[in-house]
Amino acid sequence: MNLNAPDQISNYIGGSLRAPIHGKYFDNINPATGEVYSQTPDSDASDIEMAVGAAKAAFPNWSTTPAEERFKVLNRIAQLIDENLDALALAETNDNGKPLWLSKRVDIPRASSNFRFFATGLLHFSAESHSMEDRAVNYTIRQPIGVVGCISPWNLPLYLFSWKIAPALAAGNCVIAKPSEVTPMTGYLLSLICKEAGLPDGVLNIVHGNGPNCGSAIVKHPDIKAISFTGSTRAGRDIAATAAPMFKKISLELGGKNPNIIFADCDWDKMMRTTVQSSFSNQGQICLCGSRVLVEESVYEKFKEEFVARVKKLTVGDPLDEQSKQGAVVSKLHFDKVMNCIALAKEEGGKVLAGGNALQPEGRCAKGYFIEPTVVEGLGANCRTNMEEIFGPVVTLQSFKTEDEALQLANSSDYGLSATIWTQDISRANRMAMKVHSGIIWVNTWLLRDLRTPFGGFKNSGVGREGGWEAMRFFTEPKNVCVEL
Ligand code: NAD
Repeated sequence: MNLNAPDQISNYIGGSLRAPIHGKYFDNINPATGEVYSQTPDSDASDIEMAVGAAKAAFPNWSTTPAEERFKVLNRIAQLIDENLDALALAETNDNGKPLWLSKRVDIPRASSNFRFFATGLLHFSAESHSMEDRAVNYTIRQPIGVVGCISPWNLPLYLFSWKIAPALAAGNCVIAKPSEVTPMTGYLLSLICKEAGLPDGVLNIVHGNGPNCGSAIVKHPDIKAISFTGSTRAGRDIAATAAPMFKKISLELGGKNPNIIFADCDWDKMMRTTVQSSFSNQGQICLCGSRVLVEESVYEKFKEEFVARVKKLTVGDPLDEQSKQGAVVSKLHFDKVMNCIALAKEEGGKVLAGGNALQPEGRCAKGYFIEPTVVEGLGANCRTNMEEIFGPVVTLQSFKTEDEALQLANSSDYGLSATIWTQDISRANRMAMKVHSGIIWVNTWLLRDLRTPFGGFKNSGVGREGGWEAMRFFTEPKNVCVEL
């Protein structure tokens, strides 16, 4: 297959590559160089209408295709992603600014795992039966919903796009999917892979465009009966406001402001290594990054000294260079947002211990959007810096004296996506895990993912769960049949 990134991206509707109906495009920029390198369709409601027509036409066949056949085609997509790892990783890095080694080791392998996982999952998916002794038997059928919408963000482009599409297709739905307009390229390349894998026309339709014109047309369309969305809490709120009165099923995976809670008795070296990663991986642009580092007072100074020394050594630079630990942030808009957050942290009285500045590497990346990994201390729990999601290479340090104080700080956020707890005291780890208000808790590790587990957040971090059977249940309607004996 030839998976080179084209100058002009197309929509994938009804199995064909199509220009947007109104012929409008916007620039796609490589954030590491600041240069325009392709054009992205600026699709709108008319393109979504066409995609919904194609999906509705494909649904009767796809929803009744034997599980074994659906497994084969989804598994073939996974294989083709693996076979094209290098091309996909390069496209992801050029679109997003993340280091190429990261795209190769994490993003693209996870995209193929998502397809493989749900391809095999569909072979094992089953529903319940409830017997009423000798009176009656109930059995529950889980049927695909019909046409569903999947909308994803820019931070883990193909990884999160496929995390939604794979279970939706596995469950027998036809899909209208929109990748982020900021990182559309691997979504486009996935169209080519689906074609090559033999996915029937119209089963998956990938439409490119921005949130207000294209994303909201998906949410508003009366024939799209479920919306699976990952992105900001702001957009999630708008989506819920539109979809709820239409009684659509919604799954919302939103922002985070995750605590990383460090007790003095932890495995120090492992904690330190992992905390650098959990703070700054992907330039801090992972919803699961621990952006509030909470450290037990007795080891706070020791932690600060060692952590700051390690952070200062992180090399920021050309994402194509194997030596770069950190690449560019995703866009000029996001660069400005993060730099404003750093300025706000200073205004609020924060002391910058490391970073705090934009960075201009020499050579081809001189006009890229690079920010030094930044560590701030001296701010209280209730300031904006510690309440609002920054979603960039910026963490704050706070200290606590007792377990109760750690809990109070951890739970002081309106978000509740994930938390990390570092301690060798197994009882304390479990006590804390019970009481922290987050959907995902890691003890003595971070970002260790088992795709069978429920994934999602409390509070402003979202509604519903993805992963494993949770996703298969979301993408199906249960129907109970009661038979009197
Ligand atoms: P965003 O909300 O701006 O955009 C996400 C997607 O939604 C894009 O495809 C966008 O075009 C679309 N969109 C925007 N407004 C819309 C609307 N009104 N209707 C329909 N679609 C709309 O988010 P982003 O900036 O791309 O991503 C960063 C955010 O995503 C952060 O808040 C981050 O925490 C969150 N995120 C959450 C998770 C999770 O699993 N909880 C994972 C990754 C990222």
